[in-house]
Amino acid sequence: LEAVPPAERIAVVDLAAIRHNIRHLAELVKPARLMAVVKADAYGHGALEVARTAVDAGAAWLGTAHISEALALRTGGISAPIMAWLHTADSDFSAAVAANIDIGVSGWELESVVAAARELEVPARVHLKIDTGLGRNGCPEELWESFVGQALAYQEDGLLRVVGIFSHLAVADEPQRRETDVQLQKFRDAVAVAEDAGVDHEVRHIANTPAALSRPDSHFDMVRIGLGMYGLSPFPGQSAAELGLRPAMTLKTTIANCKAVPAGQGVSYGLHYKTAEPTTLALVPMGYADGIPRVATGGPVQVDGEVFPVAGRIAMDQMVIDLGRTGIAGTADSFVGKEAVLFGGGDAPSVDEWAAASGSINYEIITRISGRVTRSYV
Ligand code: PLP
Repeated sequence: LEAVPPAERIAVVDLAAIRHNIRHLAELVKPARLMAVVKADAYGHGALEVARTAVDAGAAWLGTAHISEALALRTGGISAPIMAWLHTADSDFSAAVAANIDIGVSGWELESVVAAARELEVPARVHLKIDTGLGRNGCPEELWESFVGQALAYQEDGLLRVVGIFSHLAVADEPQRRETDVQLQKFRDAVAVAEDAGVDHEVRHIANTPAALSRPDSHFDMVRIGLGMYGLSPFPGQSAAELGLRPAMTLKTTIANCKAVPAGQGVSYGLHYKTAEPTTLALVPMGYADGIPRVATGGPVQVDGEVFPVAGRIAMDQMVIDLGRTGIAGTADSFVGKEAVLFGGGDAPSVDEWAAASGSINYEIITRISGRVTRSYV
């Protein structure tokens, strides 16, 4: 990575890696197009910077959960198609229609979207969502035909345009499971019903990153890529490198304190870690307020090319590593000021290791890095 401005806690986002990942995945799914999913501040990487990079690298569409996230991209100057798919009764459908944002609809939203379109005298762009088995949003199968009919009637009145038909997969990260076959068949059936009824859509889309990587029959006209764009693997047991992906985020800080302690020294709240021998403890000034899960005791921190597990509890602002040797504290070799890398690309510890230490998934680790951590772009 190139030099980045100093910051006490920093998430360096490698936009070249994001560009590489987009191009790699776009090539893999061709001729299907790629929607870059930039919800949740681009999984913690910074929505605007990632959106600009993704569009520049060939993403045809951007995806967000909330309309407010989509509007922020428009405000930031993004003119590419954007779709938002998770709404509440308080969502600002008028603002979405006015900003030419595509709206994913599962049922009740259709009326609200049409009301906004009527008021603005602008047809709304909608993507109709069918629940093919995930059991979250999406029109239930038995209501699909009438939902489609309703949308077509509004389209004939000039109040909307059905741009897409979509769904979301439940177990694509476990390619051996048969439920994906069932979901894909239900999706094909739903598309056929819509087409027979006269829907002239631009895009059909159901695949997320794991499906894009493992199921060519899920690509349809577009894939919605989140995790892969950030350079992480959705498959336990298969690394990002094996998938041709480059991790985009490096999370680091510098050692804030370093001290010699005797054997038997308790470390951090609860004193659950006790030093086995005389040793040196180094203080890493990041904690759960920075988004590191409190349960991730044992998570890896790299200093000077060596990896040390977090000793004892992770606190709000800090965690401790046991350097496992003496004669460092108070010397010219003191670790104070040395770079401490929690995760990153290359030989740095991986996001996956932090996920394992947390009993979670890589998606959560990157997404929860908090606003206290400075984002920097290279
Ligand atoms: N599509 C929808 C509807 C999503 O909610 C998400 C993220 O959870 C994605 C696509 C992207 O998934 P992934 O990050 O696995 O590519």
